[in-house]
Amino acid sequence: GAPLGLRFLVMDTVADACAGQFVPLLVGDYRDRDALAEFASRVDVATFDFENVPAESARWLAERIPVFPNPGALAIAQDRLAEKSMFRELGIPVPGFADVDTRSALDSAIERIGAPCILKTRRLGYDGKGQFRLQSAGDADAAWQALGNQASTVGLILEAFVPFERELSVVAVRGRDGEFRAWPLTENWHVDGVLSASLAPAPVAVDIERTAFAHARALSERLQYVGVFALELFCRDGELLANELAPRVHNSGHWTIEGAQTSQFQNHLRAVLGLPLGATTALGHACMLNWIGEMPPAGAVLGERAGHWHDYGKTPREGRKVGHATFRSDSASELAAGLERVGDALGRQAQVRPVIGRLATV
Ligand code: ATP
Ligand code: MG
Ligand code: MG
Repeated sequence: GAPLGLRFLVMDTVADACAGQFVPLLVGDYRDRDALAEFASRVDVATFDFENVPAESARWLAERIPVFPNPGALAIAQDRLAEKSMFRELGIPVPGFADVDTRSALDSAIERIGAPCILKTRRLGYDGKGQFRLQSAGDADAAWQALGNQASTVGLILEAFVPFERELSVVAVRGRDGEFRAWPLTENWHVDGVLSASLAPAPVAVDIERTAFAHARALSERLQYVGVFALELFCRDGELLANELAPRVHNSGHWTIEGAQTSQFQNHLRAVLGLPLGATTALGHACMLNWIGEMPPAGAVLGERAGHWHDYGKTPREGRKVGHATFRSDSASELAAGLERVGDALGRQAQVRPVIGRLATV
């Protein structure tokens, strides 16, 4: 937002929030009305880049200042059951799913959905947290042991396990005037439920991309969405199944900072402010690698013509996303060669291998 001449106030619950390194920070609980009132008095328009801001607090703010995306869209995206029900209503295919509120409901859900399947918390899960994978009905006790105590607080949902060939995401933006733009489809690789690498544009058939964009557009119109969002998809036998909707700028869109004409961050702000949206065209090929737990040494990435470094300034912690690198090149083979060198230098061959394999098909 800085190049647009914007000024920011960030509200966060902790004093060491990493945004505080760059912009003024208001520390307060999201449910604290005094803190929210102070926040509202100091800004012209509000948005969020964290999907677990209580929807009720967003609603309270929206009665006082413009809030985009609208809190109703946030509320739906916060609840896997509500979001999957909406996908289905819009004719967007989804994996089988069932609401689970008791131990016996889990048994009947497994019977209906079949195994393997995944028990997930309906709310507050991220990076694969709050999930339990069941190989067979015999795992029901273990699954309930792990998550049953959350049935009455955040709710549970059972989903069919999808043996997908690839994971894709649509990162898209919708303006205040309803204009819709999507960046080229992104392919994603997860390790233990956490995003590890993204490649864009994803080498997929044009009809897959067209269908994915149509789903994203339909969702954004139903929700009267304003801002950037991501729709996560599984691709199986050439069919797309919707996994979840992220009501915010998305990790799988970080490549757009260097790899697209306009980044997801800038277009989010343009949308929220009612400014014209920027072009979402890709500039060649881009791969993003997530740094999880701690930052690797920067030298190998900075030594690459294609390499860009992003350190979030977060305290290292196991499983925490602390930064990423993006590699951008006009040539797919050059990008693959750079990834190979970086994978070798950092001992991260496993992280780059699937991306290099896919680039060979471009
Ligand atoms: P995020 O950090 O993207 O918000 P999350 O915690 O909300 O993640 P999901 O996106 O539901 O969780 O799951 C994380 C990953 O686990 C998926 O990207 C996918 O790799 C795998 N996964 C989740 N659900 C399924 C499923 N039904 N079938 C197969 N794999 C799945
Ligand atoms: Mg999620
Ligand atoms: Mg996800």
